[in-house]
Amino acid sequence: MKIICIGRNYKDHAKEMGKPVPDAPIFFLKPDSALLLKRNPFFIPDFSKEVHYEVELIFKIKKVGKSIDAKFSNNYYEEVGLGIDFTARDLQQKCKEKGHPWEIAKAFDQSALVGEEFLKINSIENINFSLHKNGEVVQKSSSDNMIFDIDEIISYVSKFMTLKIGDLIFTGTPSGVGSISIGDTLEGFINEKKIFKVNIK
Ligand code: ZN
Repeated sequence: MKIICIGRNYKDHAKEMGKPVPDAPIFFLKPDSALLLKRNPFFIPDFSKEVHYEVELIFKIKKVGKSIDAKFSNNYYEEVGLGIDFTARDLQQKCKEKGHPWEIAKAFDQSALVGEEFLKINSIENINFSLHKNGEVVQKSSSDNMIFDIDEIISYVSKFMTLKIGDLIFTGTPSGVGSISIGDTLEGFINEKKIFKVNIK
């Protein structure tokens, strides 16, 4: 399986990063080795001094597809989940400055936290989610605030690569990203239901 991540998909996050709103989805991949397994803590890697959390809605692909028309995208998922795209922001900044790929900043081991529970959905509208750090809300948004919704994302990505059963799509993060420290606890919620909890070590 592969993990597809969308960058800059919320206006407020593009703004906080000082970047323009994109005119087509921006995506990158994480390998399956990036998955943070259930209930494991996240260990801050020694190659970064500034790891950020980015909470994101995740869609799981249930059917193989290529060049999917956006109006049929909804045949390719039925559940939504929540996770964190852990990002070594200091390394990412260096990659951007040099025009290098982002893998060392985005695709390292444990950089893709996927909550255990996925929820069946009938609509992609009004899916509210939030991230709490040490009990305080640090990120909060709704699927309605995405620049490109999941149907457009599926259509766009599948022009370039075949989607397979079990592939995960991280749909981008809203504003409020920030750094983590040893001892922090992060908890993610969809519509007030707790989807994950992770301790930072
Ligand atoms: Zn992200």
